[in-house]
Amino acid sequence: MNIHPTVQEAATLFIQAGKQVFLVGGAVRDLLQGRAAKDWDIATDARPEEVVALFHGRKTGSSGRSFVVPTGIKHGTVTVHYKGLSMEVTTFRSESGYSDGRHPDKVEFGVSIETDLSRRDFTMNAAAYQLPGGPLVDPFGGRNDIKSRLIRCVGNAAERFAEDGLRPLRALRFASQLDFTIDEQTLAAIPGAIPLTAKVAAERMREEIDKMIASSKPSTALLLMEKTGLLNLLIPELAECRGVKQDRLKGTGFHRFDVLDHSLLACDFAARSGAPQEVRLAVLFHDIGKPPAAHIDDGGLRTFHRHEKFSVERTREILLRFRYSNAVIEKVCHLVGEHMFHYEDSWSNAAVRRFVIRVGEENLPDLYALRRADTYGQAAAEPSPQLLVPLINRVEETLAESRALSLKDLAISGKDLITAGIPPGKQMGIILNELLEAALEDPALNSREKLLEIAEKINKRYEN
Ligand code: ATP
Ligand code: MG
Repeated sequence: MNIHPTVQEAATLFIQAGKQVFLVGGAVRDLLQGRAAKDWDIATDARPEEVVALFHGRKTGSSGRSFVVPTGIKHGTVTVHYKGLSMEVTTFRSESGYSDGRHPDKVEFGVSIETDLSRRDFTMNAAAYQLPGGPLVDPFGGRNDIKSRLIRCVGNAAERFAEDGLRPLRALRFASQLDFTIDEQTLAAIPGAIPLTAKVAAERMREEIDKMIASSKPSTALLLMEKTGLLNLLIPELAECRGVKQDRLKGTGFHRFDVLDHSLLACDFAARSGAPQEVRLAVLFHDIGKPPAAHIDDGGLRTFHRHEKFSVERTREILLRFRYSNAVIEKVCHLVGEHMFHYEDSWSNAAVRRFVIRVGEENLPDLYALRRADTYGQAAAEPSPQLLVPLINRVEETLAESRALSLKDLAISGKDLITAGIPPGKQMGIILNELLEAALEDPALNSREKLLEIAEKINKRYEN
């Protein structure tokens, strides 16, 4: 077991205080799979206040002091920050009641590690390694299930799901994260638990969705969500994309997949390429407006004219429903709304600059990542490395020539125009925008003299 020396050092402090200390959760899973652990969950018989007394303000050499944050003190969880490492420390507890399908009615501290393990969700999460050197306490066969890469409820799956409706989502999320299979009986119990999952707080659902999408293969969880009915509960807009066939693809040929499979393939590609979370979300939702936009054209082909508008609307609704931050919502919706660009070499310099203005220079890499994923999802084939090179080069060239992209970058202002005898008002706004257009087309025009000259010409046109 490759346990971090700082964790062992912290464990020694528990043991010296006469307390038991166990490694639990993800770290045990990782270590049993022979992987390095990153996330340190600790279980102990020490009460939260005893953990605080043991660690809060403790001197840690010349480097400083450790401290304790009461992250989930009600449930007996505190976070210990010790020598640069953070550990979630939870007091052994038993839970009972769960009349609301979300929280236990009664939590009791001061039980044994075995009792504590029996409240945990899956066998792979219900094995504990006693520090410093073992043994492994494994009353539910977690070690074997980890070996067989199996997600299985501790005890009766339906009962465990009835206690906490989040667990079905956790099972699916772990399947994506760990590339494990869900045990047949556990999976079979999910549809029946849907009314309970429906009661779970949106934020808890979001955490699971985020972890699914942050995994290296989101489609594993999302397809299981579809199969069990959870997709219809959480993101019915995405479920509606199943069976939406795509007859035609502008320019290049045919889509091979329906909108849902296309979106999942694209999302997996984005995940494999290490795209940031906002890009993955945008990829997953970029075509979610296709069902409402579907239209049969005169030639009998199904088209999705301006579907990106519907996609933005639906994406916003979904992200709001799960209480994503405004920053995430704006970013994802912006990418979704811009995903339909079609660059051609015939674009004028002004068109290239307008594209950069609209997308925002800082968003370009993300929009390109979205396009690569979208292209992958059309035929499940690696996009050519050349796919975006002409556009990228063109943007680079155009920006190298001039970075004047907005009214404030113009060499003259409204005041200058007034001095030159052009009356303030609506007409002046129009003139300034025409000047910007001219400067976008030809940056050499962005000088006081030249712009004034053009402004006077435009003004004359209005006077006539
Ligand atoms: P990761 O941190 O990689 O998401 P983890 O297994 O450590 O995985 P945590 O959410 O950190 O998951 O929870 C730590 C442990 O607490 C789990 O391994 C599990 O034993 C228990 N646990 C967490 N949430 C639940 C839940 N909803 N129901 C039952 N047990 C849970
Ligand atoms: Mg953990």
